[in-house]
Amino acid sequence: MSSTVAFIGLGHMGAPMAANLVKAGHRVLGFDLVPDLLAASAAAGVEPATSAADAAAEADVVITMLPAGRHVLGLYHEQGLLAAARPGTLFVDCSTIDVADARTAHEAVVAAGHRALDAPVSGGVVGAEAATLTFMVGGGAEEFAVAESLLAAMGKKAVHCGAAGAGQAAKICNNMILAVSMIGVSEAFVLAESLGLDRQALYDVASTASGQCWALTVNCPVPGPVPSSPANHDYRPGFAAPLMAKDLGLAANALRAGGVDAPLGYKAAELYAAFAEGEGADLDFSAILRTLRPQNGTPA
Ligand code: NAD
Repeated sequence: MSSTVAFIGLGHMGAPMAANLVKAGHRVLGFDLVPDLLAASAAAGVEPATSAADAAAEADVVITMLPAGRHVLGLYHEQGLLAAARPGTLFVDCSTIDVADARTAHEAVVAAGHRALDAPVSGGVVGAEAATLTFMVGGGAEEFAVAESLLAAMGKKAVHCGAAGAGQAAKICNNMILAVSMIGVSEAFVLAESLGLDRQALYDVASTASGQCWALTVNCPVPGPVPSSPANHDYRPGFAAPLMAKDLGLAANALRAGGVDAPLGYKAAELYAAFAEGEGADLDFSAILRTLRPQNGTPA
């Protein structure tokens, strides 16, 4: 069944996601603060709205794809999205935001007489363009059932993770695993170099032994063993280090809020924050390996 969707935030991720909804036969009213982005999405069949509230007023479903929690909460409140929408509208926030903000957003949506899901994504711009994203969804089962066909138009998988905020929780837990494992894999390659162990030999062993993980077999941080990994392409992202740093910051907030002692998670957040602010600003997150070498900075 075709829906009318208000899509707010037509950036790197939002633009291709909105375009895929159009391709699937939905009416999409789009809005972004940047006029050029609105024009680019219009070329893909998204109807430009004059404001986010105007788009929401006509929609069955409002999807947001914004930088951070303050943008989502700002739109819901100051920019009048909740007030403009018809009663019972489904608000699906696909941005990656703090778990606490996601829960606050759910409460605000429900208090205004609407329905809410948090549905952050994994898969990056490539996944957004190819409609192969994975959605991690928090909220009620009925709301999830309503959103499923829309999520299917933008991704290959949607996992209902639990109640409000569970999608965001799953996202930061997954990315904390990814960051820690990428650092671990990188340290192992650096150790191998210092021991004179060939990187391909380490790869051949670890990729079929207990060291096997995505950071090794898909996004291998040294050039050679996995031709498609960013390490073979000057560390062009892929998954950019600043995005990893952002997600680890959210994980660290949640660790602190819950009083959870996760020494590796905190350390990974610290390392990626420094890397993203420095040489990693435009690089794939696997390039962290360069900072872990004794002669810090030598290209792989
Ligand atoms: P982006 O900066 O390219 O896009 C965000 C867009 O939101 C911008 O175009 C901005 O103008 C717009 N915006 C901000 N405030 C607005 C408002 N009040 N009204 C309308 N538009 C507004 O960011 P992105 O890379 O598309 O990421 C979006 C979200 O997806 C982030 O939360 C990010 O963490 C998450 N994410 C990104 C990736 C990725 O690879 N880029 C992967 C997974 C998740």
